Amino acid sequence: MTLLHNPGFPRIGAHRELKHALEAYWLGASSEHELEQAGIALRARHWRAQADKGLDLLPVGDFSWYDTVLDLSAALGAIPPRFGWSGDEVDLDTYFRMARGRGATGAAVAACEMTKWFDTNYHYIVPELQAGQSFRLSSRRLFQQVEEAQALGYRVKPTLPGPLTWLWLAKSHQAGFDKLSLLDALLPVYGELLQGLQALGVEWVQIDEPILALDLPPQWQQAFAQSYHRLCTRGLNKLVAVYFGPLQDNLSVACDLPVEGLHLDAVRGGDELPRVIDRLSPYQVLSIGIVDGRNVWRTDLDRALQYLQMAHQRLGERLWLAPSCSLQHVPVDLDDERQLDPGLRTWLAFAAQKLDELALLRQALDDGPDSVRAELQAAREAMAIRRATMRQNRDADAAHGIPDNALTQRISPYPQRAEAQRRALNLPPFPTTTIGSFPQTAEIRRARRDFHQGTLDEAAYRETIRAEIRRAIRAQETLGLDLLVHGEAERNDMVEYFGEHLAGFAVTRNGWVQSYGSRCVKPPLLYGDVGRPHAITLEWTRYAQSLTDKPVKGMLTGPVTLLNWSFVRDDQPRWQTCLQIAQALRQEVLDLEAAGINAIQIDEAALREGLPLRQADWQTYLDWAVTAFRVAAAGVADRTQIHTHMCYSEFNDIMAAIAAMDADVITIETSRSNMELLDLFQHFAYPNEIGPGVYDIHSPNVPRTEQMVALLKRAAQVIDPQRLWVNPDCGLKTRAWPEVEAALANMVQAAQQLRAERLPGASPPA
Ligand code: GLN
Ligand code: ZN
Repeated sequence: MTLLHNPGFPRIGAHRELKHALEAYWLGASSEHELEQAGIALRARHWRAQADKGLDLLPVGDFSWYDTVLDLSAALGAIPPRFGWSGDEVDLDTYFRMARGRGATGAAVAACEMTKWFDTNYHYIVPELQAGQSFRLSSRRLFQQVEEAQALGYRVKPTLPGPLTWLWLAKSHQAGFDKLSLLDALLPVYGELLQGLQALGVEWVQIDEPILALDLPPQWQQAFAQSYHRLCTRGLNKLVAVYFGPLQDNLSVACDLPVEGLHLDAVRGGDELPRVIDRLSPYQVLSIGIVDGRNVWRTDLDRALQYLQMAHQRLGERLWLAPSCSLQHVPVDLDDERQLDPGLRTWLAFAAQKLDELALLRQALDDGPDSVRAELQAAREAMAIRRATMRQNRDADAAHGIPDNALTQRISPYPQRAEAQRRALNLPPFPTTTIGSFPQTAEIRRARRDFHQGTLDEAAYRETIRAEIRRAIRAQETLGLDLLVHGEAERNDMVEYFGEHLAGFAVTRNGWVQSYGSRCVKPPLLYGDVGRPHAITLEWTRYAQSLTDKPVKGMLTGPVTLLNWSFVRDDQPRWQTCLQIAQALRQEVLDLEAAGINAIQIDEAALREGLPLRQADWQTYLDWAVTAFRVAAAGVADRTQIHTHMCYSEFNDIMAAIAAMDADVITIETSRSNMELLDLFQHFAYPNEIGPGVYDIHSPNVPRTEQMVALLKRAAQVIDPQRLWVNPDCGLKTRAWPEVEAALANMVQAAQQLRAERLPGASPPA
């Protein structure tokens, strides 16, 4: 029989139980014991659900209190010295302090850096290394969870990041430090981890090495064979999992690994699997990730089956079936979405449905397609309806095409625009602003929920939002900020909100996906042609501006971010869908401008993460992404200042593209990475204005004025002080008002201090 397994199940729970448990614990509202109980219950439920679908090997280690890369760092004892770790078993408090900069006890410290997991919207905690670093097995959590599953009677397959992927993702603040030099110290401890699993009677372990889908330097390619030879654990079978892309030049590296099996992503790398099969040793299994773990559309089962039959003929029992990657990137269960349009529903498969698809495919393989004829027929019909609907859309859309210059060019180049904007906005040097959102209080969330459920009428709802806007404007005026925002109280989420208002998008009720820690997002389903039936943000922005003499900045989510943070239709190229979104946003931008809004921010927080994993594909993506941004932005007059914002991105690679977006002002994340980004500006003179985030909004710690002054002075050495803005590194929705007020008061003070110091090059205080 063909073996079914799963690289990982969504850990957050169908109703975000993990989030609720974590947040209660962090607030001190529940005990460590209660938190542990919540974890046990969730794991049990998830194993049960997967076993019920017929999976043969259940994942363990896919559950995490925060992040699985951090789990491995803890297990290896890679704890940076500032956390004052005792050297014993890493306790929950140390663990959360690494993730959040703060635990239940002890002083606040700088959290570890956090960054995007490959090209997903999941964030991992970046391991931190120092030269001469030692490792020691320091967490028994994985072992405990294996025992927990075994006690429930399950056959398990622990999963953990591979040693090379972990090392690749790690970072060191020491210059010229070769991470590979740590392998000698790392591998024995990693080996102990494997031996511990073996001692528990585990037959298979899944070792995730997704970096094999990246461009790797030759030393790293070579390190694979060497490392895995050293990890030979007789009796414990290793399945090395690669996903998110094809192997390409790493194909030999993967095929030559001395391991018992490979898992590969057939959704993104299906073409090369026949070549892999040619290369496999007769004892190796190949797990084919046939069902898309990154998107929500139903699998084309006929096509999948045809493909698998080829593999099955060649591999027999050595063929395993799985989703392409961990299902943590898709929502848990479509059964929770009864309110969705029934037609659209038939196009979809969430985690639970994807496991059903796998079970069906297995049965078709093992017992012949006739054994599941009715099910295959139903799937075929749903696919046919979707195809027919989409084809109609496409025909209607054929008139669009790549936009011409008239749509992508501002009227004048930046220097002239800057003049016009100075007159229109009249801001002081080192102008202060925020990134858009203010705290989402319980009251706002309640009002939004009641309104959506129909228990709060529209008038009352609007008044609640207006009251919140008044509060935000008043607070910003009191703090002395220069360019104000309305605060985004009406938005549950920067992407979902636009998904609710644009045509071609649908939103789910419970389609949660983990973004980082306890943060979850509900990516909209971008299923059809995009349009803007009505203005979206106009009313709120206009209201905010009516309350103050200071300029208010309009706030939109950009086309690339809306695309990258949605589940996107897969029947036309992504660029085409992106340009449709851009056209819709362009109308919104023009409406805001016509209403007297002189600054408009178009957030592109997700531009960087859409970058293809392989460098050869970058330019094509960047070209259309930049074009889409410009289509959205470029319709305005010179005097209208276009802002953009990006966070948690590594910009080094895409600096030229960012400049090509030609936003008048860009605000970016820098504080958590210690203004490392600024080094970049020494080599690349960003032509327009920049606000390097001066404090980390993801931490509850209130930043000190001196700290921010120091950061800004460093920035002023590489960026013309006349073009420097002062702002936090992201939106403030996750924070509470007292923290926000304290932090912004210090930030405004930092700007004032700089103005008073009249840095060389800066214009005198207004
Ligand atoms: N304007 C959004 C906010 O302030 C930006 C959020 C983001 O970049 N992630 O919340
Ligand atoms: Zn941000």
